[in-house]
Amino acid sequence: MRIAAAIALALTLSPAHAEGNKDTYTFQRTVGEPLQAAPARRDPVQLYVEANVTETLYHELAHALIDVLDLPVYGPEEFAADTFAIVLMNRLHDDATVQRMAGDVARNYWLFAEGAGRHRDDLALWDVHAPDLQRYYNFACLMYGADTEERAELVDLFDLPEPRARTCDDEYELAARSWNAVIDGLSTDAPGNTIRLDWVLDEDDHLTTFVRSEVARLNTEMVLPRTVNVSVIPCGESNAFYDPDMLEIQICTELGEELARTAR
Ligand SMILES: [Zn+2]
Repeated sequence: MRIAAAIALALTLSPAHAEGNKDTYTFQRTVGEPLQAAPARRDPVQLYVEANVTETLYHELAHALIDVLDLPVYGPEEFAADTFAIVLMNRLHDDATVQRMAGDVARNYWLFAEGAGRHRDDLALWDVHAPDLQRYYNFACLMYGADTEERAELVDLFDLPEPRARTCDDEYELAARSWNAVIDGLSTDAPGNTIRLDWVLDEDDHLTTFVRSEVARLNTEMVLPRTVNVSVIPCGESNAFYDPDMLEIQICTELGEELARTAR
């Protein structure tokens, strides 16, 4: 699950209001601007929501796979779920789409990190998730590492320090080898219908329509041993969850609303 408090804090921020330190300036000048690959005719607010909901849905799907496949996880599960989301984004989407989504997801992590504060006491280092700034750099590194030649500009765009950038190629290779072996095993009998849109608040709203399309995309790629439901429902907080008792991924409608406000 994601950190609701961090999302709430991020809500209060926008690049225009952020403090004027070097990192913020670099971010606004680079990551905060739409990538050149961004389609010109789509609403940037919807694209921002879609990119971050995609990453969130894939992250929660990792929890579901770890559960229903009884997968071994050698390290914190939340790190593994973040990594899975990046590998799956690269597997299911073309390069231009991945790079555009990467800019929006990175921006969201950055805004969370800004909201979380800079002092070590401000950071929830006890949390199962990595601090948002670490999640930002891990995300940036793996997105660059997925194709260091075609995505060389991401090093500057994401302000990725050179010592970290050096290892991203190998880091992504290990991540892709690990998770693609699992996904390959699920793809043999694909397409299927084992990921099922269940409860929704509004059949026709943008968030539900988008999640429905992503569920369809996932079903073209993998068949799970048990049906996993996906619901798009109010949760009382801006978040997303995987519920192992219900075998259900819950995408909170509040998350879509909050992402849209953040993007504006
Ligand atoms: Zn999680």
